[in-house]
Amino acid sequence: MTRLALSRLHFPVTTLGPGRRVGVWFQGCSIRCPGCVSLDTWSAKEPDTDCAAVLAAIQPFANQADGLTVSGGEPFDQVDALHALLVGWRGAHSGSVLVYSGYPLERLQPLLARFDGLIDALVTDPLQLQVPQTLPLRGSDNQRLTLLTASGRAAFAHLDVPQPNAAPALDVMFDDETGTVFFAGVPRRGDMKRLASLLLRAGHQAATTEDKSASACR
Ligand code: SF4
Repeated sequence: MTRLALSRLHFPVTTLGPGRRVGVWFQGCSIRCPGCVSLDTWSAKEPDTDCAAVLAAIQPFANQADGLTVSGGEPFDQVDALHALLVGWRGAHSGSVLVYSGYPLERLQPLLARFDGLIDALVTDPLQLQVPQTLPLRGSDNQRLTLLTASGRAAFAHLDVPQPNAAPALDVMFDDETGTVFFAGVPRRGDMKRLASLLLRAGHQAATTEDKSASACR
């Protein structure tokens, strides 16, 4: 039984890969890029969710999905759980698999044989705010999109060309139980600050859920 430290699940996610996708966010990131907008996923926690339970939870909508996107957090910080999740997905679903990592591609290369056929498209490398942002799916253009399968090349190749004037898009998710709002997608530079400012002007409060240890790691 392989356990996963899970941040959240969502369907449909329309801004992290082509079509309507299942999104799985891993909890915990050891990379901690300055400027990351996913501070809430930085803190590591005990892997407390069985991968089989994650697969069961996504089963009801997975068959309507065009694929699976795994982000975080840092999925490769939980390499066994990532592997178990993708083996389970591949065994039951045909949709493409996109995985995000902040590690350089060269560092992941030795691991990729184990993931042969499990990952169609892989975004790698840390966010670097000093680098322009013109490429889809990425926060900075140093981040590489590697297409690892024929399906990945068919589904993702059009997303490896600059689109500097593309309309920004984020998925907005509401959690009725906690009253929390989540955004999925890759915001353009300054989008989250602009959103906070608009909300403030409209009389609402906006706060980032921060990992308290973040400042020590920058
Ligand atoms: S690897 Fe991803 S989640 Fe981790 S700090 Fe960098 S951008 Fe944020």
